[in-house]
Amino acid sequence: MSLKYNIVYNKCNQSAISILDINKVNWKELQEEKYLNFNIDLMDMNKKNLRKVIKAIEKILKKYTSKYEYNFYISNFNENNQNHKDFIKIIETLFLKDIRDRYNFIYDEVCKFLDNEFISKDLCQFRNNKCGEKENLSSEVGCCRHYKNKLIGPIGLKNPLIVCEYLKNKRCSAKCISCKLYTCDYLRRKGIQFKIKNIVLLDIFFNPIQKFIIKYSVFTPKEEIIRKLLLFK
Ligand code: SF4
Ligand code: SF4
Repeated sequence: MSLKYNIVYNKCNQSAISILDINKVNWKELQEEKYLNFNIDLMDMNKKNLRKVIKAIEKILKKYTSKYEYNFYISNFNENNQNHKDFIKIIETLFLKDIRDRYNFIYDEVCKFLDNEFISKDLCQFRNNKCGEKENLSSEVGCCRHYKNKLIGPIGLKNPLIVCEYLKNKRCSAKCISCKLYTCDYLRRKGIQFKIKNIVLLDIFFNPIQKFIIKYSVFTPKEEIIRKLLLFK
């Protein structure tokens, strides 16, 4: 059975427990309650506090079961602040008990974020099928191509560049997060780079091996990347 929770924005509940005071809670006193209410202030939310809050929520979830309904009263929430939006995604992630569900959720959320960055800001500047980096070259598919034998790559003499097999109707059918994170010299010259350590959902929920997988599994479908992430959880 899934755990029920609500998020109440920009409201503080006077009788709720501050999430950072979780260690002072007398759990026995709460055993008869139906609702467990927590206040979270986003005003001073830095990385250190964020980890403390995550630990606190994990502790609550370990102790309690589906008989409770959890209410999180979030104060100082700004819907235009990416860190605040990420924080809400972290709560949603923590309530997903099944690890595969968690990874799928994080994966999709990060892909959504990256797609939005590329599309809404027109980062690659495609004009007449040529992106900014390949403007004076023959490629009409941006960087969606690779050497026929991906393993030997550039050292294979008769090893031509081919269009990635996952490119269908000018779209990636593989939902490859590693490709979405990739930024070429053209983008880097414009100061655009997506680092895993700056994408909080990736940084918080994955270990160093998983981060390596996320960074380097280019030309790989989502299902395969998720399979590898589960292998090294
Ligand atoms: S990341 Fe660079 S090379 Fe790839 S499509 Fe965008 S501009 Fe072109
Ligand atoms: S897997 Fe990578 S290279 Fe292939 S189509 Fe998707 S984004 Fe392009």
